[in-house]
Amino acid sequence: MKSCHFALVIGVAVALPLGAQAQPSSAKPMSFPVVQGKTYKFEKIADGVYYATGGLGSNNVVIVNDQDVLIVDTGTTPATARAFVADIKMLTDKPVRYVVNTHWHYDHTDGNSIFGPEVQIIATDFLRTAMTTFDVLNREPWKTSTAQYAPAQLDALKKQIADEKNAGRKAELTKQLADMTKIAADLKEVKPMPPNVTYSTKMVLHRGAREIDFLFLGRGHTGGDTVVYLPKEKIVATGDLMESRLAYMGDAFFDEWVTTLDALKKLDFNVDLPGHGIPFGDKGLITAFQSYLTDLTRQVAQLKSQGVSAEDAAKRVNLTSHAKDFPQIQGPGADVRGVRRVYAWLDEKR
Ligand SMILES: [Zn+2]
Repeated sequence: MKSCHFALVIGVAVALPLGAQAQPSSAKPMSFPVVQGKTYKFEKIADGVYYATGGLGSNNVVIVNDQDVLIVDTGTTPATARAFVADIKMLTDKPVRYVVNTHWHYDHTDGNSIFGPEVQIIATDFLRTAMTTFDVLNREPWKTSTAQYAPAQLDALKKQIADEKNAGRKAELTKQLADMTKIAADLKEVKPMPPNVTYSTKMVLHRGAREIDFLFLGRGHTGGDTVVYLPKEKIVATGDLMESRLAYMGDAFFDEWVTTLDALKKLDFNVDLPGHGIPFGDKGLITAFQSYLTDLTRQVAQLKSQGVSAEDAAKRVNLTSHAKDFPQIQGPGADVRGVRRVYAWLDEKR
């Protein structure tokens, strides 16, 4: 696969419509009936439970209850959240009354603002604190992930189109420019809106016959990830705590993440619906990811102790032995934002 500037948004796929193919995974694809909306594709995982892909940002989950609908995560922009809610009307005419944010990253929360006060937006206490105190639009992962939509980048693409001689390639780039221009406009509409219902370790929602558990199993991808668990259906939605591919690591707590994933594996489930990637049923993928995390932190810690900079360490680590589980690894090196975070985390632990 030719690498392009979209490749830099590892784990926070802002450019999903353009970069959706950049989601390699060794997870064995599971097959579910599909309902195709205008923007989103819905895979029916169980009665009233759908996995939604195709929007800008996170993948989502739709849970249709007796009276109402709960959705997991809201994508990167109000525009994508509106397209999501519009497409949900193909599944049910019941109203969305509950939203869960699995974690505070923009690609899971920045669609929140389309919902009125009658909608309960549920997350961990930590998430609310993060969204209200982190200045989230002036730090990672927002900064590097949205930089590609800056006016200078769009101008560079326009120039490239003007210079392109190959008609097919020119048409491709022109389509890309149109998509990126729309995303740039949609991003301007973003107003981070924190949840209005929070919990510390566990909360249970009973809606008719449906039981929906919200679980904080420990720190990991962020300081406050929620796992959404349907105990009767044996389905779990894990956000970016566990994807079917490597997650962004810029806000991670690495050793705790491994422990938290042990707790995840203890839940009784047959399908994991991740924040990015594809549904998977094999808990072996979780073990493989734990092994990646352990190996990454060990290698980075060693380089740090030798006085190597985080930037150089990001080039020098070699995790290619994990490529069989995570095919996005195509050579030595790791996302520098994750490696910088390992450095900071090691300092915090001292
Ligand atoms: Zn994330």
